[in-house]
Amino acid sequence: MSRPIHTRGLVLRRTDWSETSQIVTVDTRDHGIVDLLAKGSRRPARRSSSFAEPLDLGGWYDLVYRPRKGDLHLAVEARLIEGFPHLRDDLGAWLEANGILDLLRASFSPGDPHPALLRSALSCLKLLSVGRARLALRDRFVIELLDRSGVWSVGDNCANCEAEIPRGAAHWHAPAALLCAGCRTGGDRPVPEELRTLLGTLQSTAWGNIPSLVAPEPLLAAIWERLREALLHHLERAPRSLRYLRAGGPPGTGAPLRSPSPR
Ligand SMILES: [Zn+2]
Repeated sequence: MSRPIHTRGLVLRRTDWSETSQIVTVDTRDHGIVDLLAKGSRRPARRSSSFAEPLDLGGWYDLVYRPRKGDLHLAVEARLIEGFPHLRDDLGAWLEANGILDLLRASFSPGDPHPALLRSALSCLKLLSVGRARLALRDRFVIELLDRSGVWSVGDNCANCEAEIPRGAAHWHAPAALLCAGCRTGGDRPVPEELRTLLGTLQSTAWGNIPSLVAPEPLLAAIWERLREALLHHLERAPRSLRYLRAGGPPGTGAPLRSPSPR
């Protein structure tokens, strides 16, 4: 029998498998995304059971599992470290959290761990409890996800000629690049300077400081529109939960951008 693997992981999806068991998709710190069969996790028989309770979506666990042939491995033990209970009391926070979990699942393959991004996901889940700056948190997380997926090449300099872009001369090149005026191609739209500055700020601000970031909601919404476009371009199958992540008016209506909730 294979040696058990000890790691930590975030539950991205869970499915009831039988009366007593679950199949869970977990983003693990050391081995990336794995599918695990947790036998008996739905009905912990006694206090000595390997599972104190069913594995929960968005839970961060100490895990032991045995690799098996194929893609479905056997969970041996799971101990909850952090369940982020605040997410369950607040629909807005729950939708944001589901977006994060689904995006992680859709963006990476098994055997491709991204521990730093996983830490960012945990920071983001935790900070959703603050109840402020949720759009900024979402933007920050997706920028990092796209960056680590190799899609995002938005920095201070032109993504083509690498020259520094003068103030007011940046152009947006879909799905995710900034170009100087000399390198822009036909459809590239000019990027307002304040949007470009906010992109830089989001990328460089530590997680803990995001909720106190002072940023106009319409600008954050405009950044989200570009991020969404980059995600749809990058992902083979965009998760359904993306649809519930709104910013401003309904998409495609041309309605003026506004804050989704009163502050
Ligand atoms: Zn250029």
